[in-house]
Amino acid sequence: MSRVAYVNGQYVQHGQATVHVEDRGFQFADGVYEVWSVFDGRMADFDGHMTRLHRSLNELRIPIPMTREALERVLKETVRRNRVNEGLVYIQVTRGTARRDHPFPAEGTAPSVIVTARSLPLSKGNAAAAKGVAVITHPDIRWGRCDIKTVGLLPNVLAKQAAKERGAAEAWMVDEMGLVTEGSSTNAWIVDESGKLRTRDTQSNILHGITRAAVMALAADEGIEVEERAFSVDEARRAREAFYTSASGFVMPTVSIDGAMIGDGKPGPIATKLRAQYLDQARRDAI
Ligand code: PMP
Repeated sequence: MSRVAYVNGQYVQHGQATVHVEDRGFQFADGVYEVWSVFDGRMADFDGHMTRLHRSLNELRIPIPMTREALERVLKETVRRNRVNEGLVYIQVTRGTARRDHPFPAEGTAPSVIVTARSLPLSKGNAAAAKGVAVITHPDIRWGRCDIKTVGLLPNVLAKQAAKERGAAEAWMVDEMGLVTEGSSTNAWIVDESGKLRTRDTQSNILHGITRAAVMALAADEGIEVEERAFSVDEARRAREAFYTSASGFVMPTVSIDGAMIGDGKPGPIATKLRAQYLDQARRDAI
């Protein structure tokens, strides 16, 4: 089936969808993005991702390209035209096209907006979650504003590639103090030795994950205590359980780190439960 992309006001064949060579996203990674998971053709955690998109744009002073309602219509239409039932929808907004020069372009330069959608069967992620996945550790060499969801993802790309080359699903990035910041495209969690659920606090050095926030609320509803405090690689090795969260992976049980087994090497009960609950809620509340 042919895919369709939305590019600056038009729906075009995916294979023919292009932006200008002097788009600032291409030249400077001067742009931001968001990803929603799609259940039954509807987007999960809609408001959370939309609010974060606006925050990212505001932080970088990229003009808001269209109203929230108009953006919602474009996202839904792109999902519909691509007949995505289970999958992902992606939006990227850049500072637009202008002669290559570092300062912001003239006022009135239109931001570029592209939206794509693709199918990704839930069964694939469920199969990985049933077995649990491996992570490796990797130095975090990113800039100081990882809370902004920019398309400048080169350190994340290198970390994920390192994971792939070592047969792992994700790389957990580690700061200069030996503490895990987050995954290359996910937030990192453990159930520590004392049984406490832990994930790093959200300052400017990690992305404020929408799935992270949803899972934190679910854990609170379950009466599970969550501590927002960074953990070391050593604590992760000694943890009872580990998992990571993201819009595309939901809650992914993690069973080894740098080849060392975590817990009994099987997906833990808390991770497994939170995954099921997150999936139920996301499907129920999707729009
Ligand atoms: N951290 C990073 C670096 C990411 O790229 C992502 C995925 N966008 C996440 C965390 C998870 O965030 P979310 O739950 O909002 O998808």
